[in-house]
Amino acid sequence: MAQLPSSKAVLFDVTPRQLLQIAGHRFSALYKWQLEKYRYGMGVFKIDWALDAPIPFTAAECHQAGTIHLGNTLEEIADGEKQTSEGKQAEKPFVLLAQQSLFDASRAPAGKHTAWAYCHVPNGSKTDMTEIIEKQVERFAPGFRERILAKSTMNTQQMEEYNPNYIGGDINGGTLDIRQLFTRPALRWSPYQTSDKGLYICSSSTPPGGGVHGMCGYYAAKRALQEVFGLKAPRLSYW
Ligand SMILES: Cc1cc2nc3c(=O)[nH]c(=O)nc-3n(C[C@H](O)[C@H](O)[C@H](O)COP(=O)(O)OP(=O)(O)OC[C@H]3O[C@@H](n4cnc5c(N)ncnc54)[C@H](O)[C@@H]3O)c2cc1C
Repeated sequence: MAQLPSSKAVLFDVTPRQLLQIAGHRFSALYKWQLEKYRYGMGVFKIDWALDAPIPFTAAECHQAGTIHLGNTLEEIADGEKQTSEGKQAEKPFVLLAQQSLFDASRAPAGKHTAWAYCHVPNGSKTDMTEIIEKQVERFAPGFRERILAKSTMNTQQMEEYNPNYIGGDINGGTLDIRQLFTRPALRWSPYQTSDKGLYICSSSTPPGGGVHGMCGYYAAKRALQEVFGLKAPRLSYW
């Protein structure tokens, strides 16, 4: 904290764990306790592939999609996610797969392709999910494995090393359930404001959470502009 230049407002794009490490000594006992209670969710295991050819999905529609949610039926997806959220490892997990090189030639040398995929795993899991993910892709794209030229994998620990916001591999900045949707990171009138005037949190650990591109930072900036600089936003909405 002492390394930061002096300013009227500081916005932290980190999760409660790092916020406590950086500025915990500035917070009230209640706010510190609230941040310590913050819950993190499922982690991810991710694979990046270099491919000899596009993924041979049997469904023609899949060749038109940049991102594919692989999971067969809704019931199978729900079952896999439920098992993982309970700390078990699903045998047929929901797999999120992206194949950008089909639409962006700069992603791979001419004629070659790239793709990546992840599946959820229990927070902090070190299980290697390569076989299970590739089996899931092969199920919907027979012959996929023969097209793999090279691959790189990251378990939850490596995800966190890559980005310290991915606590235990959680890429959403904390569990996003009904209890922690509006009260992330803590139950406060403005969730972006910490207990120290001028210090704000603007990461996906605030509403509306990860997966709502940029909106956490947008609302945090609005709040800081209004409180610190007295700038009236046209409409401040709920937050
Ligand atoms: C493979 C993958 C696919 C995804 N797909 C989607 C998707 O399709 N749609 C979607 O909405 N979201 C997706 N996400 C999630 C999305 O990327 C995150 O929700 C979002 O980036 C979170 O934004 P943020 O501002 O909270 O933190 P980040 O974007 O993670 O930025 C935080 C920054 O702070 C740095 N940092 C952390 N701790 C410290 C520290 N102590 N000191 C200094 N710097 C620190 C980090 O290195 C990072 O640069 C995906 C994530 C991954 C990994």
